Amino acid sequence: MPNQLSTQTLSNQTSSPFLTLAVSPAKVIRGAGVLASVAAEIAQLGTKPLIVAGNRTLNISQESLQPLFQAQQLQSLAASYGADCCEVSLKALRKAAKEHKADVIIGVGGGKALDTAKLVAHQLQLPVVTIPTSAATCAAWTALSNVYSETGAFLYDVALSRCPDLLILDYDLIQTAPQRTLVAGIGDAIAKWYEASVSSGHLQQTLIIAAVQQARILRDILLQKSAAALQSPGSEVWQEVVDATVLLAGVIGGLGGAQCRTVAAHAVHNGLTHIAGHTSIHGEKVAYGILVQLRLEEMVLGNQLATTARQQLLKFYAEIGLPKNLADLGLGNITLSELQTSAEITLAPNSDIHRLPFKVALEQLMAAMVSTTAPIDNREVNNRVSTRAMSEEVTE
Ligand SMILES: [Zn+2]
Repeated sequence: MPNQLSTQTLSNQTSSPFLTLAVSPAKVIRGAGVLASVAAEIAQLGTKPLIVAGNRTLNISQESLQPLFQAQQLQSLAASYGADCCEVSLKALRKAAKEHKADVIIGVGGGKALDTAKLVAHQLQLPVVTIPTSAATCAAWTALSNVYSETGAFLYDVALSRCPDLLILDYDLIQTAPQRTLVAGIGDAIAKWYEASVSSGHLQQTLIIAAVQQARILRDILLQKSAAALQSPGSEVWQEVVDATVLLAGVIGGLGGAQCRTVAAHAVHNGLTHIAGHTSIHGEKVAYGILVQLRLEEMVLGNQLATTARQQLLKFYAEIGLPKNLADLGLGNITLSELQTSAEITLAPNSDIHRLPFKVALEQLMAAMVSTTAPIDNREVNNRVSTRAMSEEVTE
């Protein structure tokens, strides 16, 4: 059962003397129009693929993939992942895979389609190919699937035995996605720094240091190149930003492993899914969650570096169109009780918010959630020592 491999298990793994890492896909093929020439690569993994796609991407897979597969004598069957990466869809897809006698699973779509495909493959012990159609997350890379309810509420995540066997990143395909998905991908990817530096910035293991430093590099690439990338889709700088959100963000999770996971930004996202459902996408909620996390560091610790970082991000978000507050997420009219429900879920006992180096009370979290755009309040700022070794932050 997927529940047995939830986040809880992941945290327990950190106390094991053995390190198990799923660093990267076995192979990554990347380029504009690359999809047209990968059928032979896929044929090496299996001859009866089950294609798991979203409703929008089901057409793409039928129109572009099926003819290529037929030329390679692959007998493919395409199926939608349905409402979400949820238990009902997973069960139906396992059944479809068995009936089709599938020997490889191919995920085509956004994060939810890819998470579903990876988890079905993991459960059936089959190889999996990921073909992202947007740059909204690093799901094409990682050995992790998030499971939601049918209405989009986050339930748990599952650590998979390995990263995908093949990742195909076709820029032409990514360019067909709405611009909003790349903006969200930037939000999800930049969170790596704000979360990894808190959860792992103090650790001395070689691979963790490497992962945290790569998260800093990823942040810098995104701060420097995102605005230019969004202005010229398909350009070289746009491709670099797509690489950052789909590939480099995945490297950090792979190299950092279970110790370098999410903190408050994703925990806030998880809580929000219970009141927001499908009204905003993953990276948008996560981007807002970073601001909440920084606000907590300001309010609880008086952390001046967090204040500076939040102001820097607010400027960046305004420039590229990421949500700065609940209203930007379409949640400007939620009730106090909805806000509280979301905050309570964010503070659940197994939530990653508890990786923050301080305790967070319900009232503090709710206050942070409604004050992400607050101007700098000098009364809150004092010279207490930062929890995060990020002195370069203030000089930027
Ligand atoms: Zn994420």
